Amino acid sequence: MLVDNHNREINYLRLAVTDRCNLRCNYCMPEEGINFAKNDKLFTIDELVKLSEIVVSQGIDKIRITGGEPFVRKDLMVLLRSLSKLDGLNDISVTTNATLIGPHIDELKELGIKNINVSMDAINRETFERITRRDHYDVVYNNMIRLITEGFNVRINFIALEGQNTDDILPMLELTKHYNVSVRYLEEMPFNGGSKEFQTIKWDFKTILEHIRSEHPDYYKLESPKTSTSMNYKIPGFKGTFGVIPSFSRTFCGSCNRLRISATGDVITCLYAKASVNLRDIMRADDVEENIKKEILKAVGSRAKTGFEAQEKYKDVFSNSMTSIGG
Ligand code: SAM
Ligand code: SF4
Repeated sequence: MLVDNHNREINYLRLAVTDRCNLRCNYCMPEEGINFAKNDKLFTIDELVKLSEIVVSQGIDKIRITGGEPFVRKDLMVLLRSLSKLDGLNDISVTTNATLIGPHIDELKELGIKNINVSMDAINRETFERITRRDHYDVVYNNMIRLITEGFNVRINFIALEGQNTDDILPMLELTKHYNVSVRYLEEMPFNGGSKEFQTIKWDFKTILEHIRSEHPDYYKLESPKTSTSMNYKIPGFKGTFGVIPSFSRTFCGSCNRLRISATGDVITCLYAKASVNLRDIMRADDVEENIKKEILKAVGSRAKTGFEAQEKYKDVFSNSMTSIGG
């Protein structure tokens, strides 16, 4: 079992498989993209499998595959097939923009990978295309509906962006009336590769909840697991649920159970911290298992207690883009 220096059990890894993406969401990266990593700087699939085996042997039992866009990696399904056979790994989930997932839906189901987070920040086509700077609305919407109707556990991630999509908060919520889906509203964080800078946000989780309450005064709170980053709610009579994720307010740090590894091998113990160590060269040298385990233990043993503490220490951390961190 991995336990950090604040006595928190770490059993959840967010594993980024690429920093590349076929969208250019304006809250995530600049229009021209970022300086994407060269292929030889990314873990190969064999390395990702090996790394997963090692961390699972240390007590990680949940892995979320993220990116960049995971499905831009043509070999992603090779990784998912291996992970689905890994003893001790109880939960594999994927965070995706849903542009490229279509051809893989049947196989994901066969592999038992049912937890899919779809990032969709607008239900209005023009707003969606303005935010993502691409015209993939139909494929994203259709894949999202297909995933829901085929029985996947779908959570839609919607970042509330001042001046951009807040008119879509309530229309997006309507999906939960008809479908068994969870719409989760996230606060925007300043990890956008320099697209803009900010110290505060208007649409924090309280404002989002007040906005929803103005239309649905009878929503009620649901029990959530202690380590959940979202507070979850239901509107009476609606099939689905909704949630808010205070990613910028950071009310959930106290029970954080997660570790991040970027596509280039950086170990990140808090979103608001700098990488503790890079594992890529260690993965390509001798005594891989022993050395990776040692570095993971060291990183987990020196985590910031909260995102605020980390931010205080690493002042220029906001120069990063989410596409290289993995969300
Ligand atoms: N491409 C995939 C996607 O968009 O779902 C996976 C990678 S993306 C970096 C992972 C998550 O990070 C997404 O849910 C996205 O909305 C979120 N994200 C990206 N930039 C963000 C920001 N500045 N603030 C808050 N969340 C952000
Ligand atoms: Fe790509 Fe996801 Fe970033 Fe959007 S949020 S640009 S889909 S990595």
